[in-house]
This record gives sequence, structure tokens and C-alpha cells, in this order.
Amino acid sequence: MSRCSYCVVGGGVSGLTAAYRLRAAVGDDATITVFDPADRLGGILRTELVGGQPMDLGAEAFVLRRPEMPALLAELGLAGRQRATTGARPLIYSGQQLHALPSGTVVGIPSSASSLAGLVDEATTARIEAEPGRPFSWRPGSDPALAELVADRFGEQTVARSVDPLLCGVYAGSAATIGLRAAAPSVAAALDHGAASLTDAVRQGLPPAGDGPVFGALDGGYQVLVDELVARSRAQRVRAAVVEIGRSGHCWELHDETGARWHADAVILAIPAPRLVPLLDEIAPRSAAAARRITSASSAVVALAVPLDTPFPPCSGVLVASGERLRAKAITLSSRKWGPRGDTQLLRLSFGRFGDDLAERASDEELLAWALDDLATVFGVTVDPIEYRVQRWIEAMPQYGPGHADLVAEVRAGLPSGVAVAGSYLDGIGVPACVSAAGRAVAGIVEAL
Ligand SMILES: Cc1cc2nc3c(=O)[nH]c(=O)nc-3n(C[C@H](O)[C@H](O)[C@H](O)COP(=O)(O)OP(=O)(O)OC[C@H]3O[C@@H](n4cnc5c(N)ncnc54)[C@H](O)[C@@H]3O)c2cc1C
Repeated sequence: MSRCSYCVVGGGVSGLTAAYRLRAAVGDDATITVFDPADRLGGILRTELVGGQPMDLGAEAFVLRRPEMPALLAELGLAGRQRATTGARPLIYSGQQLHALPSGTVVGIPSSASSLAGLVDEATTARIEAEPGRPFSWRPGSDPALAELVADRFGEQTVARSVDPLLCGVYAGSAATIGLRAAAPSVAAALDHGAASLTDAVRQGLPPAGDGPVFGALDGGYQVLVDELVARSRAQRVRAAVVEIGRSGHCWELHDETGARWHADAVILAIPAPRLVPLLDEIAPRSAAAARRITSASSAVVALAVPLDTPFPPCSGVLVASGERLRAKAITLSSRKWGPRGDTQLLRLSFGRFGDDLAERASDEELLAWALDDLATVFGVTVDPIEYRVQRWIEAMPQYGPGHADLVAEVRAGLPSGVAVAGSYLDGIGVPACVSAAGRAVAGIVEAL
């Protein structure tokens, strides 16, 4: 397999993990080229200094219930850089008040009425209590939007106040746009196996009670991972977008935006679904058609460094229920979540939901003003920023709508031999799922060659 040439299109965590895994699989002699037009590699992994401290302006954490990140960090010798949360929990902002995060839920779907105590009204509580006794029918394999299923069984308030805030934090989407199977696979599996009610399915689908932290992060930010993957992959970098891919004999020919042509034995496309479509139109029309149907949300992050003594409550942040009169969809009190460092407090607010164009349209000044307004409304605190950054992520958050897994299967099935895909629209939106999908892409390429 030596002397081969591989092109990886996209230098986010998916592309960089793919390049790293390719190097491990194909050895030192192969040429690996990573294309990305951005000013630096990492894509949505972007760490900058804010208030003199490294701060992630895109992804900032990873779930520890999945094995991929701890395993990758150990493999890269970075296990010692893993940080855990302080144990502070987020709150929910609903009905213009702060509430404890519901417990005993799967993405906010309650396993009992007590899960949502104080968050929903009496009628909703009664409805949740009565759910196991109501007639219930389930077609195994079906994949409704979460809003459809949960509103029917537990009422609209459960959707707006418990499910939506959690989904919005993860997907910048809502229960109306996200399918059950993607958001709550354990609940879908329990339903397929004959759970008698949604309550029963959620009880079966609850993650095992663990006392360890749910999230990890990297000391120094995600940049630490990006740097290590770049170094280990020993890939050459081309700072340009790929605009066309075609066949050239037994090889693939890539054209970048400068007009340069590149040849490769195999190609890994590690770019978001909307960017993938034009590259696949010619060589894999069936995949392109499926990828075209995957929609995405945009998001803007306002990161702030504020004086250490700014009196935020002892929580890791706030998730916002739908229908509230706030602009932000989530607030992360980073210094409370991960522990204080340095002589400022760091926090970030996220804006933009699927279907709105806030992240594209609002100016930096507007976003900052909204952030300060929302902090005053939610916490009653006047914030005086020492420094701020605005970062936009356009069409960065794929919506895992009903039937998403079928679309993904269609994308993969339509690919010609020697072309593989990686990215956050495939097997899960988070960084661990991207790491997993990149490994799968490389395994497929290596097997095909
Ligand atoms: C605001 C925000 C917060 C998030 N928080 C978390 C979190 O805390 N934890 C978590 O696990 N996940 C989080 N996520 C999700 C996670 O960050 C992403 O799923 C993941 O980083 C995606 O990586 P990727 O490499 O697939 O795509 P990207 O990071 O989008 O990288 C794709 C790259 O492809 C490049 N590119 C595009 N078109 C072309 C082309 N034609 N040619 C060459 N290059 C091209 C782009 O420049 C980009 O660098 C968050 C996402 C966002 C937007």
C-alpha cells in the first residue's frame, strides 16, 4: 500500500482523525493531503485566547459515556490533559424562571412525573402520571419526530420545557426537527422490543446511574487535540477548497479552487453535508441526492471574559425552553463548569435555532448586546465584559430528522469504491461520533484498496 496517495477533503476533527488513522494504516511512504480553505485547521474545534485564557469557541466538551474520546486521547498520549466538570449542573430557563435540570429523563423525556416536578403545570403532571394506563401502539422501526411522540404522550409543555432545551443545546434544533432514533436510541430500542408505554420505554432506556462526570474537555482547549492529530498524520496541507472531483483512469482527480489538480488513489470527504452535495453530483448522484436532504442549522457563539467577582449562581449554565423571550438558546458558565482559571471568569452564549437566520444576520454588536441583555434577564446581573469574541458557525449543525439513518445509509451506499465520507451528519453530531465515523471511513478505504 506504500506509494499510494490519499486526499482528505476537510480539516475539521473528522478530516484530521481520518488523516491520522490513514497514516497509522498505510504507513510512512504514502502521501496524505488535507484540503481546507480556513485560516487554520480544526473546523469547529477552535480555541482562542479570551481574557488571557484558552477558550473553545466551537465544541468545548465531549460526552464520556461514549468511549471514543478517552480512547483517542490515551492513544495520542493526551489522557493527562483530560479535564472533568466540577459537578455544577445546568438549569432550565422556563416561564421566566430558573429551574433545576430534570432528572430521570432521556434527552428530557421523563420516566415519571416527578422528573419534571416544578417545571410543568398540574395538568401536564397528571398526564405524565396517567400515560402508562393510556392505550399505546407502536410500529417497530418507526421514527417519529420527538415532538410528535412526546406531545401526544406527555403534553406540549414537556416538549417545550424539558425536551426542546436539551435538543436545542445539542443540535440547535427542536423536538419538531429531530427524530426519536437519533436523539433517544435507547428509548426507540425499548419501544421496538415491546415496551408497554413511553414511560416504560424511557425507564428501560435510562443510562445506568454513574457517579462520574458526564462531560470531559481538554486542558488547553481542543487545540491540543488538533495539534496532535496534525503532527501525527504527517499530512501535507493545501489551504484551498476542493471544488470538483472526477475519475482519472483508476485514480481520482480533485480540482481545488485555485485551479490546481491533484490525484489520489482514494478520497475521504470530511465536509458538512451541504458542502458535500456539489462534489458528489457527478461521481455519486445517489449519495448527492440523499445528502441534499440533510438540513442544517447555523449558530453563533458570544464568548466573554468578565471580572472574577461577577455574581453568577452556582450552576454550569442555562438551557432555554422554547417560547421564552430570550435571544440566546443556551448559556455556559465555563468557569463554573470546568473550574476557575486565571483572574477572569469565562462564559459563552449560543444563538441561532434551526429555521431562524440569527447567526447569519445579526451583527457582532447586536449579538453582544443581546448576550448582555439575556444575562441581566436570567441572572439579574449586570455584566461588564473585559473581552469578547463572536464566532459564527454557518450550516454547521446537521438536523437528525425522522428517517435520518436511512438517508445516511443512502449516502454511503451510493459512493463509488475509493471514496468515503466522514462528518457530523452521519452517525451522531458530537465529536466522539465524528471520531468514530472517521475511523469507519478509513477502514472502508483501506479494505477497498
Ligand atoms: C457551536 C457549536 C458547539 C458544539 N459543541 C460541541 C460540544 O461541546 N461537544 C461535541 O461533542 N460536539 C459539539 N459540537 C459539534 C462538533 O463540534 C462538530 O460536530 C464537529 O466538530 C464537526 O467536525 P467535522 O470535522 O465533521 O466538521 P467541521 O468542523 O465543520 O470541519 C469541516 C471542515 O471542512 C472544510 N471544508 C468545507 N468545504 C470544503 C471544501 N469544499 N474543500 C475543503 N475543505 C472544506 C471547512 O473549512 C471545515 O474546516 C458543536 C458544534 C457547534 C457548531
